[in-house]
Amino acid sequence: MKLTNEANMTIPTLSTDTQTPQTEYVYFEGKMTPFNEATLSLRNPAFLYGTSLFEGIRGYWLPETQQISIFRMREHYQRLLNNSRLFYMTPELNLQDLCDITVELIQKNAMASDIYIRPTLYISGETIAPTLSIASEFCVWTKPLGEYLPLDKGLNVCVSTWRRVPDNAIPARAKAGGAYMNTALAVTDARKMGFDDAIFLTDAGNVSEGSAMNLFLIKDGQLITPGKTEDILEGITRDSIITLAKNELGMPTVERTIDRTELYLADEAFFCGTGAQVAPITSIDNRPIGNGHPGSWTTKIQKLYFDTVKNKLPQYHHWCTLVQL
Ligand code: PMP
Repeated sequence: MKLTNEANMTIPTLSTDTQTPQTEYVYFEGKMTPFNEATLSLRNPAFLYGTSLFEGIRGYWLPETQQISIFRMREHYQRLLNNSRLFYMTPELNLQDLCDITVELIQKNAMASDIYIRPTLYISGETIAPTLSIASEFCVWTKPLGEYLPLDKGLNVCVSTWRRVPDNAIPARAKAGGAYMNTALAVTDARKMGFDDAIFLTDAGNVSEGSAMNLFLIKDGQLITPGKTEDILEGITRDSIITLAKNELGMPTVERTIDRTELYLADEAFFCGTGAQVAPITSIDNRPIGNGHPGSWTTKIQKLYFDTVKNKLPQYHHWCTLVQL
């Protein structure tokens, strides 16, 4: 019997994948393996309970030099290793091993396009009980990926009726697989109501983050973002934007508690994240933000972001790992 996923039928998909190469490899169970041979048991606990930690990393294709620029790879893997301690899932591989495996995989797959890199650390085997502190495995795959959210048109978003998972339930800063049921609820409901995406509030009712991205507001020339204790993922793009805005635009960021109504009164707003990149928001809960068009600060920050990830700014070359194809 063929099951139909109703959500897929009614929800517009926003990602624009480019072509997939003929032979594709993944790193799986300790070696480079053809994609179709990398399979997991139906009894695998990460499949059953979401007992996995993951990262999402982007690589940007630089056609002039035939290189892929991987953005802040070390920081992504450092976050994975930090979170693995929290979840008793420390891998045998160290930071350098993880980076080396990823570079080797990118060279092997030779996808001459912008790519998405998905490393996952997961509980392996077939234990029925949902426990940690047992055997785990590391795998990573790559895929051509264009925009995850529109970058030009401005997003119409809503405040979700679902709250962000609190730190004392499933820590949002950990990028844990199971926690993304929270994201899936918020984004699915938002799209069914005709919005592009959703903003989460914390259980206490403060602004937290987007469904799978961080959020910035601009008010009276000030860049504002929820603090790290507002049940957010401490995003690497968020950190990059704080640095870029300060160094290149002389714009310090205020990290603080944000009320819901501050969203509606902001001059500008944008989402940021590895997938989302820098995506302007032009309305929240049907209220236009600023003049209802992507704001000028947002546009400047977006350009800075793309120049940085594409290795155009010498002062941030240390954030880009160049892989020659
Ligand atoms: N919040 C959530 C819940 C996310 O899934 C992501 C995407 N990783 C982000 C924020 C942005 O984080 P980063 O900039 O590190 O990709």
